[in-house]
Parts: sequence; structure tokens; C-alpha cells
Amino acid sequence: MDMDKLVSLCKRRGFIFPSSEIYGGINGFWDYGPLGVELKRNIKEAWWRDNVQMRDDMVGLDCSIIMHPKVWEASGHVGGFSDPMVDCRECKGRFRADQMTALVFTDRSGPQGATNPRPLVFSAIGEREDVERENAKAIEKFKKANAAQADCDPDVIRLDNLAITDELYALVPCPSCKARGTLTRPRSFNLMFETNIGALEDASSKAYLRPETAQGIFANFKNVVDTGRVKTPFGIGQIGKSFRNEINPRNFIFRSREFEQMEIEFFCHPEESAKWYQYWRDQRFQWYVRHGLRSDRLRLREHDANELAFYSTGTADIEYSFPFGVSELEGIANRGSYDLTQHQKFSGKDLSYFDEERWERDKAGLGLTSFKEYVKKREGEPQPGYPYQYIPHVIEPSAGADRATLAFLCEAYNEDEVGGEVRNVLKFHPRLAPIKAAVFPLVRKDGMPEKAEAIYRDLQRHYPVFFDEKGAIGRRYRRQDEAGTPFGITVDGQTLTDDTVTFRDRDSCRQWRVPLAGVVQAVRDLLEG
Ligand code: ATP
Repeated sequence: MDMDKLVSLCKRRGFIFPSSEIYGGINGFWDYGPLGVELKRNIKEAWWRDNVQMRDDMVGLDCSIIMHPKVWEASGHVGGFSDPMVDCRECKGRFRADQMTALVFTDRSGPQGATNPRPLVFSAIGEREDVERENAKAIEKFKKANAAQADCDPDVIRLDNLAITDELYALVPCPSCKARGTLTRPRSFNLMFETNIGALEDASSKAYLRPETAQGIFANFKNVVDTGRVKTPFGIGQIGKSFRNEINPRNFIFRSREFEQMEIEFFCHPEESAKWYQYWRDQRFQWYVRHGLRSDRLRLREHDANELAFYSTGTADIEYSFPFGVSELEGIANRGSYDLTQHQKFSGKDLSYFDEERWERDKAGLGLTSFKEYVKKREGEPQPGYPYQYIPHVIEPSAGADRATLAFLCEAYNEDEVGGEVRNVLKFHPRLAPIKAAVFPLVRKDGMPEKAEAIYRDLQRHYPVFFDEKGAIGRRYRRQDEAGTPFGITVDGQTLTDDTVTFRDRDSCRQWRVPLAGVVQAVRDLLEG
């Protein structure tokens, strides 16, 4: 599928617009139009319903975007949350060093085949898959041109690798203007947007727009435990905006500077974290499949040990094969006790959890009546209350609502032929479709519009529906196909004689008749059945 076609359909049909377009747009920001806002809401609502409301072990939160600046010190975002950047002195381009690789070929074209130590360098930039593809092309090209003289298996070195010598570094061409010797060494660039609180702009008024929703959950862990009657294992879910001053916003809404996250922090006993990690990985993968992403375009990629953050004992990405390459849709990480321990340290508040159920279960066997006695007996040990009092371990499934929207759009986009004509159709899962049904009078006479409007009003009380009486019926169907509306309902000549209407299925274009009185139930059965 061609990404440009999808972007243009999104614009034409009112799914997604560039932000501030009348002023020329602003890089990395997008607006959702009338159809897009419904689609994204449906995705967020499906996530919320399935992961929060339908589960006994989950509750929700909605935290502020600006938090106490210490939150970001504790989380490691101040200082740590930065990408290594390379600037080009020539064209002023700025690139992520961890996305650039140098392929170092060794040239053997010196006298009598002696190895010429001057390396030949190629650099690629982009998402991981793009880089791999670019590299493969460069190796192929190099092999063709240099088969006889050179060692064609290059060393692949990321530009944030400090071991690259100055001599080698000077040979790396700028990915944009191709000039050599113009790139700076990587420098770190903080991704957090800064702002000031109050009228004064000084160090004490500095604050940040959150770069993830997760920290609001950790900061409220104690509030939820003290007031929510939750017991481990339990989770807290949150949906909300996050902001990152991305260097390279790209691929439509895939990487933007303002986006929405759907995050879960699931708190459990340290001994059970491996089990819950597996559980959430599989659960989240299946959620995408259930909502229509074909499993052969989805994959679960376990991170290698050398990719893991130092506190994590397991991380997996759910990746989707987008038209621009296979890229991350959601990350699931076993974060251990890292986050709560950090917040305990920085806030000075006790964030440990007392597992009353476990204690009640074991205390008779231990021959003890009070937990205080237990702790006293183990005085001096690093965790005297363990395994009854502990900092819970956390499993974090962290998804992006915009990336999910993009994946569902890519998956839904189809071009097929109907009646000898090419049509664009968005085959959304009915739960996600922005409009659930469209109602049409075949012609604007003989009482058809009135009958159709009555059906429309009836349906509108239950679902977002659309009424359209203008133009040829085929054209009206096509417009709804492009909007992804699962069903069309037409009042036609036969309606006037037998009180039935025509139902049309978006994907197969099959038509059948339904009694007027049964329309709402029929739509319900089709959408929810
Ligand atoms: P990437 O490596 O693609 O930058 P990340 O690993 O930094 O992503 P996380 O910090 O794990 O991402 O964020 C969790 C989720 O939030 C991602 O899986 C993605 O769906 C979403 N997300 C992160 N950054 C962006 C962005 N700039 N634009 C849109 N969605 C994003």
C-alpha cells in the first residue's frame, strides 16, 4: 500500500489534517478531523473498556500534564531522556546518531592488492528497518562496483559509538546534503518541552510537558492503594497526551511531537513479575489481532539482553509492518521495582506495599500473630518485611493511540473493483468504524426521504450514523466505503409496498432486505454479533 494514497485519503475525507495548515503547517503536529476524531476515540474507548472497565484488577487515572519537576529527576528524564544528535555544519540538518550507521568497507586496491587502510563509508538514517534496507542496497551497489578489490563484508558501526576514530568520522557523508567532514560528533539533546509556571521565568519556575503518562501513575500509586481498595496484582491505566520534541518527526502520525499514549502500570509481587510480563505481552498482542490487524503483519519482538534498560528483565515490542517498514506500535516492559524505588528515594515517602492477604494466609504457619514480630525477627536484613511488605514490581504495556490509529488505517485501506470501477474502501472493524451505518432514500420523492429520516433518527439514539440524500446511490455508497462505514440502509421503491429496506455490506457489497421495524436490532446484531 502506498502511504501517499492513505495520507491523501485522510486529508480528503477529513480523518487527519496537518496542524495550523492555513499558516503553512507545523512539523510534527497533526489535527484529527470529523472522521478521524471518531476513529481515534473508538480506539481509545475500546482500549479503556477492555483494559480498565471490564477487568476487576484494573482502575483508571487522569493525571495532569505538567507535574512537579522532581518527578522527571526521579524518572531519569531530566538528564537521561535525550537522544544523541549529530548536526551538519554545511546544511544545518540535525540527525539522530543512534539511527545512523557507517558501513566501513576495506579497500584492497593498493599496489599488488595491498590493503588500503582508507575506509569507504556510507551512512543511512531512519527507522531501524529503513536503515537496514538502505544498508543492504549500499552493500549490493558497493559489491557490484568493487568486487575485485575490496572486502565486501563491511563493519557496521552506529554513529553514537564513541570508538569511531576522527579519521573515519570525517568520511561520513551527511545523510541530507552528502557533504563529508561536516558532521559534528554526537551531542545529547533533551526531548522534553520546557515551560515556565507563573509570571517569572527563572530556574525555579521551570517545568516540563510530560513526555509519557506513566509517571503520573507512579506518583499516585500510594493514593490509589490508600483509597481504591486495590490489592496486588492490580493495574492502573491512563490515556492522555504526551509531548516529545522529536528531532525527526516523520511518517505521518507515526512519530509526532504531540501524541497520545494508552499506558498500563501493572503492580505485582516481585516473584510473579515474569508470569505477568508474559501475560500482558500476549494479551496486548491479541488485542490488536481482535480489532482487525492481521497477525502476519504484526510481530512480537523480544529485546536482546543488550537492548534492555539496566532495570528491565524483559522488554518486547509489538511491531506492525507499516508501508514504510516494520516499526513499534507498543512496548511491554518488565520494569521491576525501578520506578517506585526512584520515587520513594526522591520524594522521601514510603511507597512500599503491605500484602495483607499473603500475610493472613501465612501467619499461622509461621507461628506468629503480628507482622511487627515478623519484621523484628528479621531486623538488619535488607528487606525485613519481605515477602509481605515490598515495593511492587511493574509490568508496563505502553501503547500510542496515534500509532494504533495509523496501523488500523493502513490495515483497513483497500482498493478493489466493484462493477468495473476501482473503489477505495476502509475495512475497519465495526467497533472502530467512525460511522456505524448510513441511511439513504433512493430518490428524493414519494415519501422516501421522510421514511429514511425516521430510521436515521431511530438509529442515532444508539450509534453515530449518517444521512445522505444527495446524488446517485452508487456514489453515496462509495463515499461511505471510503469513510469505512460498515453498513448502508436504503429506503427504495419496495419499502413503500412491503415495509422492508435494503441493507448493504461494505466489504462484500452484498445486499439483503430487513423489515423496517427490525432495523435497529439488525444493526446491533451486525455490529456486536
Ligand atoms: P520510538 O523508539 O519509536 O521513539 P519509544 O520506544 O521511545 O518509541 P516509548 O517511550 O516506549 O516509545 O513510548 C511508548 C509508546 O508511545 C510507543 O510504542 C509509541 O506507540 C508511542 N510513542 C512514543 N513516541 C511517539 C511519538 N513521537 N509519536 C507518536 N507515538 C509515540
